[in-house]
Amino acid sequence: MPDADIHPPTRNLIEAWTRRVEREPERVAITYFDATLSAREVDRLTDALAVALARRGVTHGDRVGIYLQNIPQYPLTLLALWKLGAAAVPVNPMYRGDELARLLTDSGAVGVVSSYDAAEDVRAVAASGVWVVTTDPHSFQTTDDPRVFTGIGRAEEDELLSEAAQCDGQAPAAELSGDDLAILAYTSGTTGPPKGACNSHANVLAVASSYAAHVGLTSDDVVLGVAPLFHITGAVVNATMALLHGGSLVLAGRFHPEVTLDEIRTHGVTFTIGSITVFNALGAVPQAGRDDLASIRALYSGGAPIPPATVERFEARFGHYIHNVYGMTETTSAVVAVPLGERAPVDAATDTLSVGKALPGLTARVVDASGADVSTGAPGELELSGPQVVSGYLDNPEATASTFPGGRLRTGDVAVIDADGWVYLVDRIKDQINVSGFKVWPREVEDALYRHPSVHEAGVVGVPDDYQGESVVAFVSLGTDAPRVGEDALLEFVREHLAAYKRPKHIHVVDDLPKTQTGKIRRTALREVAHPTT
Ligand code: AMP
Repeated sequence: MPDADIHPPTRNLIEAWTRRVEREPERVAITYFDATLSAREVDRLTDALAVALARRGVTHGDRVGIYLQNIPQYPLTLLALWKLGAAAVPVNPMYRGDELARLLTDSGAVGVVSSYDAAEDVRAVAASGVWVVTTDPHSFQTTDDPRVFTGIGRAEEDELLSEAAQCDGQAPAAELSGDDLAILAYTSGTTGPPKGACNSHANVLAVASSYAAHVGLTSDDVVLGVAPLFHITGAVVNATMALLHGGSLVLAGRFHPEVTLDEIRTHGVTFTIGSITVFNALGAVPQAGRDDLASIRALYSGGAPIPPATVERFEARFGHYIHNVYGMTETTSAVVAVPLGERAPVDAATDTLSVGKALPGLTARVVDASGADVSTGAPGELELSGPQVVSGYLDNPEATASTFPGGRLRTGDVAVIDADGWVYLVDRIKDQINVSGFKVWPREVEDALYRHPSVHEAGVVGVPDDYQGESVVAFVSLGTDAPRVGEDALLEFVREHLAAYKRPKHIHVVDDLPKTQTGKIRRTALREVAHPTT
């Protein structure tokens, strides 16, 4: 069973990390292809990194962007920042231009740790005074596997690690409390443009410890960090949970199914949590089979709905049941999960696989529009409270007040909870598209289309997609006197403004968009055109 000393009352993440180092200093903490770092080495290196970052001026309460794929420098930077009392701002490495600029400005990041090959994109948008330090995805990797996307070339010098090499010594000890900000994670939430959810040390500890207990994680476990570390799930229940708990964390850059299978076999991975797209991609590797996953003892999928048939197909092929798990950026990741070894029931009316039961400490209620409980088994909005739920969004009192009335999180998900406590997500109130677990806010895509001089009106919807769960589809009408433009040119245009997963799969050019009497574009009508239900 998990060691009791990572559970609260451990007050902050560095206290929990220090206990882990003391427990088993020589055990491998991070594995990256053929490189390994023991807990002691990680501790020394992150002390040195903390000193180097302090020399750059980073201090208690600061926020620093991390613009990296799943490479060792990610968890190393997390620990170094936490040692200084600073917080990490995970930045999706697919972001460019405006998307990147908005996030850096809103977060007030004092600096960014960037992959060597993407640093110019960051420098181009970073405000003056915001430093950028580069690191090389190849620094810990001696393999030259062409399937591994880590960057476009080797850095002459890894700035981050060479600064650390010149900074031996103890990190300046910050006075940390559970309320200190650990991760400022951006999400479109339930209402629109990206907002920074303030995940505190206490929030991250609560989730890492309750989920570790739920899956019975021990220091013998080998955790594959397959979820992107720039998403709350990757940062908290892949990286932090593995680091604090004493199992080793296996990283392999950006997800590639064949590389992932190699890593599972080579390092004897026992546990992972990813999105259903990851499991679908493993299933699509022709020669993959049971032997590849022989070391696995628990698999979890979260972030997006799982069709029951997908779970059955995967189990028939690989011999492993995929457990469902639910969480949000605002709940610091996993908070409702299928108990290990149990099978999620399916709601007969909607063919919905249950996302599981509330983890310890979490109160899950189903409420009506006035916030009153509905009767057991009736649908309503899922409302969550507990130590996992953040206190709000950075510098955004309006969105905080509407999403967290009375400190309780209105999730925007429509749920049913049955008499045994199984939670089923049956619908969504929020205007959000879920592409392989990545959330797309339709307005952001529409705004990108409106930038095109020929576009008069734009409407964006999500439609079911066998592989990604949902995909983005757009409808536009053109200005009467504007130059005619077709789907391909519009697709090419949005490439410049949107990360790949937000780009529409199709853009239909139509004469007019359906509207309500008050002139609002009717998304339901567009959805029906894009994906007729009969
Ligand atoms: P994010 O903040 O990106 O983690 O997105 C959170 C949202 O993802 C939730 O509000 C749900 O709409 C959706 N979600 C998370 N986990 C699941 C799941 N297991 N099944 C269905 N939807 C999920």
